[in-house]
Amino acid sequence: MIDGLDRNLIDGDLLPASSGGTFETLNPATEEVLGVAADGTSEDLDRAIGAARRAFDEGDWARDPAFRAHCLRQLRDAMQARSDELRELTIAEVGAPRFLTGLAQLDSPVEDLGWAADLAESYDWKTDLGAAKPAGVPSHRWVLKEPAGVVGAITPWNFPHQINLAKIGPALAAGCTVVLKPAPDTPWAAAALGAIARETDIPAGVLNIVNSSDHGIGAALSTDPRVDLVSFTGSTATGRKVMASAAETLKRVFLELGGKSAFIVLDDADLGAATSLAAFTACTHAGQGCAITTRLLVPRARYDEAVDATAATMEALGAGDPNDAGTVCGPLISARQRERVESYLRLAIEEGGRFAAGGGRPPERDRGFFVQPTLIAGLDNSARVAREEIFGPVLTVIAHDGDDDAVRIANDSPYGLSGAVHSADPDRAWAVARAVRTGTMSINGGVWYGGDVPFGGYKASGIGREMGVAGFEEYLETKAIAEPA
Ligand code: NAD
Repeated sequence: MIDGLDRNLIDGDLLPASSGGTFETLNPATEEVLGVAADGTSEDLDRAIGAARRAFDEGDWARDPAFRAHCLRQLRDAMQARSDELRELTIAEVGAPRFLTGLAQLDSPVEDLGWAADLAESYDWKTDLGAAKPAGVPSHRWVLKEPAGVVGAITPWNFPHQINLAKIGPALAAGCTVVLKPAPDTPWAAAALGAIARETDIPAGVLNIVNSSDHGIGAALSTDPRVDLVSFTGSTATGRKVMASAAETLKRVFLELGGKSAFIVLDDADLGAATSLAAFTACTHAGQGCAITTRLLVPRARYDEAVDATAATMEALGAGDPNDAGTVCGPLISARQRERVESYLRLAIEEGGRFAAGGGRPPERDRGFFVQPTLIAGLDNSARVAREEIFGPVLTVIAHDGDDDAVRIANDSPYGLSGAVHSADPDRAWAVARAVRTGTMSINGGVWYGGDVPFGGYKASGIGREMGVAGFEEYLETKAIAEPA
């Protein structure tokens, strides 16, 4: 077990909460208490922000990309050296299916720290625009890229390593210093990161991690005048509050929010292959992924066939122990989240829908926050279960009347995060992919996820991009300099 999981990383030290308080973290598959985390206070947050401010203003961190790259590679290597412990912790605390820890739940974001390190070294920090005669004055002009300053990073529980590292990696590579406020449901994932980071050469104050059971700590991070930028991932409702509170001190705000993405099957697609993938995607990590496609749009003439095929795959996948290598759908994170998902299941029936698969708790599991993979049929896109983010293993299947109608339905959503299209004709697939207003689209099962790929949303799914060069540049300011030519 990694030491220091009950501590916060503040100014280079692993510390208990200033109050001495702790809160419990649970295993969502068994409901057992795993242990406790430091219950950070506003005093702890104040110290963390002060340390980050000092490290940014007074240290060399912001001016030394090569050293930053060295530290990020060290962090990657140290996390990889502890990957067995991190994997077990992630399965136990997040309820993440084991197979997913080999991908976005652990291994991929750790590996991507190296990509951020490489970018810090290869990035064009000073662009020579050459000479010109603005206002008749012969001048030589440059554009500099500089770190934005102190970053307040606020993250959710569903993919804690992925989201913590997709903020910390690029922010540190850019030369910012960071105060991370993780979700109270998964404090150990962040505490483990803090304990491992402390063993690297990352200077004191550059990375601070304040776990707390108090959501007000996140709110305080978005109002503190010493913070230059808030990088937030979470629900759209909280994102709105963060943006409003950041307005007071005119912070830059970067938001990754919710989604209700469409999986579009065109009439020439292989229906069996497409519906299998749609079912698998909706079940992955019990649907607790913002980019998961949760509306399945199928040709009206093949609706019943699509419902039967999708339901069969969802039933075969079932909900299982996240420790098992074959499990795709583990538990939901908490009793609260299960109640939320179950309230949407009740709503689906009230709205006139029917369950083609699932619809409740798996009878064979008397412990853990499990919900059966559930397919809702018989509704159109106006139903609330087709419009609102449920964040459970719940897929709603909707009929469409051709390519244009499928695009119309896909776009008839407050969200615009992700999507998928399946067709035998690449031209038709591309036309649909271009027409859907979302930040990412998969064609015929192509996978867009990766450290070098910008990820983020249109509309109520967010502002800005995480990962890729665009994600790195979120953490930069632009400065123009001129001198006489
Ligand atoms: P949440 O919005 O409840 O909480 C997210 C974080 O915000 C937590 O750390 C929480 O403590 C903090 N917080 C709560 N109130 C706050 C406030 N007033 N000011 C500042 N911070 C505050 O979200 P959640 O339930 O933890 O996560 C699930 C949501 O996250 C889903 O809606 C999902 O779609 C979204 N999500 C989005 C992405 C993306 O990249 N777009 C990725 C993962 C999750």
